[in-house]
Amino acid sequence: MTQLRPITVNVDAYLGRNKYEVDEGNPHIELVDHADPETFGRLVRACPAALYKVDAEGNQVFDCAGCLECGTCRIVGSGTVVARWNYPGPTMGVEYRYG
Ligand code: SF4
Repeated sequence: MTQLRPITVNVDAYLGRNKYEVDEGNPHIELVDHADPETFGRLVRACPAALYKVDAEGNQVFDCAGCLECGTCRIVGSGTVVARWNYPGPTMGVEYRYG
């Protein structure tokens, strides 16, 4: 497995401007049971909301709350990491705020 360098960019301050309506109990992204570690590592780098993480014990961590609905993980990890990807239902998901 490729060793990843630590991420030093903190996107939380920028993303905190957005508003999210999380559809609890009905996640719009679901992962496969045993995600491919190499592809998961790519998503750790590629997800602009930094929702794909590997913790200190090497566990893969993901929570779709805070998703920007960009579709990157759908393209990069479909089948190997992402089992199901849909847009959130009406009135749910991200509402972008600028400034
Ligand atoms: S759709 Fe984009 S923001 Fe949402 S989890 Fe996938 S890569 Fe991250």
